[in-house]
Amino acid sequence: MRQVATLEYLERLAHDAGWIELCRIDRWVEACWDDRPEVIVSQAREWAGRGNLFTTLQHIDHDALVGYLAEQRQVDPRKRLRTPDHVVKRYCRLFFDFDPVRPTGTGSTADELAEAEIRAKGLRDRLLALDWPLPAMAMSGNGWHLQYRTALPNTDETREQLAAIYAGLHREFSDDVVEFDRSVRNPARLCALYGSTKRKGPNTADRPHRRSVIWLPSDWRQVHPRQVAGLAEFFARQSSQTRSDSDRSAQEVRGGARVSGRGNYASLDVVRWFAAHDAYVGHLEGHKHGVRCPWSDEHTSPSPRNGSDTIVFEADGGWPGFHCKHAHCDGRTIRDVMALWRDADAFCSETFHPRRAA
Ligand SMILES: [Zn+2]
Repeated sequence: MRQVATLEYLERLAHDAGWIELCRIDRWVEACWDDRPEVIVSQAREWAGRGNLFTTLQHIDHDALVGYLAEQRQVDPRKRLRTPDHVVKRYCRLFFDFDPVRPTGTGSTADELAEAEIRAKGLRDRLLALDWPLPAMAMSGNGWHLQYRTALPNTDETREQLAAIYAGLHREFSDDVVEFDRSVRNPARLCALYGSTKRKGPNTADRPHRRSVIWLPSDWRQVHPRQVAGLAEFFARQSSQTRSDSDRSAQEVRGGARVSGRGNYASLDVVRWFAAHDAYVGHLEGHKHGVRCPWSDEHTSPSPRNGSDTIVFEADGGWPGFHCKHAHCDGRTIRDVMALWRDADAFCSETFHPRRAA
């Protein structure tokens, strides 16, 4: 992954999307459109002192946009216009947004931001295990983003697929620490302009205004439409089943995920692994972390909120450890979790080579 400047990011975006809306949201909304990255950068510089800067991400039908703007300006020349969903011709990005839960209208603390990063990397790894390519990753100022390249027509079918995926990921990844934003899937949705400063609430030492940053993979490949359709189908099936049925089918899909190579479990990143299964609760002390027990549905007594009843130990020379204090889990070890989830290879840093989409 390589950090890139705003201009290079916009060059990649314009290559796929063509016309881009640059939008400043302050006390009012201002927008302009262009397909030349350097023009957008220079407008962004002019606007950089106040408010927050965003762009659209998807491929706009330029004629439809021009027609829409002309029509609206005839009705009311002073109306502040934005890109409407219906002029987007196709999706060229899948945009996933993790936002720390925090007081309304404030920026994130460093700890909250770190939690969002864990979730975003967990999703990246979860999708790598399903043979998805690497996404771009971004720190948005207050949260973390993933951007996958793709090419999907803006049709009812695509929008239904995206609704199923965002709802499924929301179920899997949102908790009371970090929210997976299921609302960012409409075609004209705005995304932070990376490299600009995100200003939310007062700029304090604890909750500072931050400049957003994006990293691109060296080979930023497209997710194939059939991979998107496959994930949508999985989540659609899951949501139509009872809860216990859906847990079983989730395990089947994980077990069926083709992960190449065999992980060296001494290099298993147990924190990322549990986070990817939405089962990470928080750091306790030293190498100890609180987690949600994979068998918590079978416990007879409820878990404390800090997760101290079920813990994992980071690998320290040997394999990482797992221990659940509930009687029902007596004798269960990290091997039982591996047998249940069957994707531990994907979270080992050694001997695991992620496969790419065909
Ligand atoms: Zn347990």
